[in-house]
Amino acid sequence: MKRFALLLSALALPAPALADTLIDNANGIQVDAQGKLMRFTGVVFGDDGKVVKLLAKGEARPATDVRVDAGGKSLLPGLIDAHGHVMALGFGALQLDLSGTTSLADLQQRLRTYTAANPEARWIIGRGWNQELWPDKKFPTTADLDAAVGDRPVWLGRVDGHAAVGNSAALKAAGITSATKAPEGGRIENGLFVDAAMDLVESRIPAPTTAGYDAALAKAQELMVANGLTAAADMGTSPQDWAAMNRAGQAGRFNVRILGYAGGIPAMHAINRGKPTDWLHGDHLRLSGVKLYADGALGSRGAWLKRPYSDKPDTRGLPLLTPAQLESQILEAARAGYQLAVHAIGDAANRMVLDAYLDTSAGIKDRRPRIEHAQVVDPNDLGRFARGKVIASMQPTHQTSDRLMAEARLGPDRLQGAYAWNTIAASGAHLAFGSDFPVESPNPFPGLAAAVSRQNPAGQPPGGWRPKEKVTLDQALAGFTREAAYAGFAEDRLGSLDPGHWADFILVDRDISAASPTEIAATQVLETWVGGKKVWEKK
Ligand SMILES: [Zn+2]
Repeated sequence: MKRFALLLSALALPAPALADTLIDNANGIQVDAQGKLMRFTGVVFGDDGKVVKLLAKGEARPATDVRVDAGGKSLLPGLIDAHGHVMALGFGALQLDLSGTTSLADLQQRLRTYTAANPEARWIIGRGWNQELWPDKKFPTTADLDAAVGDRPVWLGRVDGHAAVGNSAALKAAGITSATKAPEGGRIENGLFVDAAMDLVESRIPAPTTAGYDAALAKAQELMVANGLTAAADMGTSPQDWAAMNRAGQAGRFNVRILGYAGGIPAMHAINRGKPTDWLHGDHLRLSGVKLYADGALGSRGAWLKRPYSDKPDTRGLPLLTPAQLESQILEAARAGYQLAVHAIGDAANRMVLDAYLDTSAGIKDRRPRIEHAQVVDPNDLGRFARGKVIASMQPTHQTSDRLMAEARLGPDRLQGAYAWNTIAASGAHLAFGSDFPVESPNPFPGLAAAVSRQNPAGQPPGGWRPKEKVTLDQALAGFTREAAYAGFAEDRLGSLDPGHWADFILVDRDISAASPTEIAATQVLETWVGGKKVWEKK
């Protein structure tokens, strides 16, 4: 009886007030469901971390428990990178950073300094050199590395991740001799290992420890939130990566949201017993796709072209899979319920993947097949993205970083279908944007700027490179928000601040809708909020 009375009195109480938060006095901008910029000045979200309502200027403010004055600062939905490599970002940031080296001597100096500063490292691993930025444009050799460090193995990856060079100690540790033959899909020249040949050495590098994985994931998250990214598609999740991500989720160490794409069919089978997962750890992690490779990259001439390279007429690159292998892997993944994301850079590779998606379309119905990069596409194939409902997942900063190299590799005739964002979007295809971090910086703002200007952050070249392929700011922002979410089957909860979506947003130091491209590129993130909680603030 007593219990019953208690129950009754509990029922008679008014419902507890929801602990809503209002972010007020913001200059809010997002892309609406029609793809147009819309403005708001307030965001209300509940203590479940989800948006209740966006408030327009002058609209009455509801009574909330918490009110935060944004001081008129610009507010955007958290940006989403549709193609990144989360663990590589973290590992790379903890390894020797060779990005921006200006010469071989610069690389050698950085290598000496890092080696001296890391006496406990068994191998010296570095990444990010780009011989295209050096005066003589010559690839570094084994002897060049030996001249800097001889006592420990050294392995240094090119900026695009498609070539690496080792010193003699590394080659010895990996059992490489002058008799070693490159495997199919790769080659070895003067200690430079390209594409599939890289594995000859990389398979012999001691694996990172569990603690190393955890440190790398923490570092990657730190870099993401500091750059305004609240989510990313992880293109090539390994079982070890997945385990680290689950550890982070179980320990409540997730600040960002990761859409995992298993790194190939074996990884797909190894992770979660070959089945995609639901959203895990409060919508911070999901495995929904598989990443495959059709070819390599332009920089190392591994991209598969229909005709020979203009600057090396004895090669047209090479496919990493036969059409039959590609189709059978697509079908295997699609039948297990996975979304497909296939890397294709050259026009021959893009044609092969488009053909494979068409041939397997019965098996990949409603799977939103993606082509990653879609960098050089035969103009006759550009319309096939929309017709085949194939998502083009492209990286604006690849265009600005690589334009001179692309001109050399492709010659003038083939540029028509290179980095053809506007043509692809205008044909009605979904266009998702990313950075391919750590190939490029994870900072999405230079990407937004490149998308609208075809210029690098310094404003080069004047007027933009092949400017007819610029997109509007609405399209660019959509590419990093709504379309990136759509490309990952996440548009029901991410990519906008529509009611019911996660309150993932950033405050930035300028109004990108009123800024020039160079100003957009220099945007500074002030605060990053994920699920209604501030996870980062600029010091
Ligand atoms: Zn990539």
